[in-house]
Amino acid sequence: MVTLFNSMGWIEVICGPMFSGKSEELIRRLRRSEIARRRVQVFKPALDNRYSADEIVSHGDIRMASEVIEQAGDILDRLDWRTEVVGIDEANFAGPELVEIAERLANSGKQVIVAGLDTDYMGRPFPPIPDLLALAESITKTLAICLRCGNPAKHTQRLVESDSLIVVGSDGLYEARCRRCFEPGLPRQRELDFVRARRAIPAETGA
Ligand code: ADP
Ligand code: ZN
Repeated sequence: MVTLFNSMGWIEVICGPMFSGKSEELIRRLRRSEIARRRVQVFKPALDNRYSADEIVSHGDIRMASEVIEQAGDILDRLDWRTEVVGIDEANFAGPELVEIAERLANSGKQVIVAGLDTDYMGRPFPPIPDLLALAESITKTLAICLRCGNPAKHTQRLVESDSLIVVGSDGLYEARCRRCFEPGLPRQRELDFVRARRAIPAETGA
């Protein structure tokens, strides 16, 4: 998207499954804003402290300093109103208030870049991303690579037993799957055995 410097705000959404490059793309855009000497603030929900409490970390280990929030409302408390670009990673964990807050920020002239999962482990739209998609000026859908067949993957396959909407983790707990290979919820037992066996092979051979 072309950057306008007349203080008009807008909302950009980057969404897709796990491993699809959402964090990488968010960091890339925020770094470009910093190069353009714009004031940037980055937030992520406390729930996602898998790799680092005060950084966004991509699966490819690209990092950027961020501030931890308990809920979306904290963004307003933490915001330096001179900030021009507001980034939010793992927005699907930020709660429903994020929709109103993103709108408020954009209306007050900020560029808001939101990254998050668009669907959950059952393949259902993951709030509040669907509402943000409807309200955004710009939408980018990122795809991963299906670990079963190599096709473009839009799903996050859960590999552990849980009915809970949120099970925080990545490698070993989830993998990217295409539409054809995705099994909503838990994969069948033989599927789990296959995944475990595949993971064991490199360890045994030392590859
Ligand atoms: P997201 O934020 O969408 O979870 P990240 O930006 O953290 O994604 O990580 C993307 C990186 O993950 C890729 O550049 C690649 O190095 C790595 N990766 C691991 N598994 C996959 C996969 N199945 N498909 C694509 N990239 C993968
Ligand atoms: Zn597939």
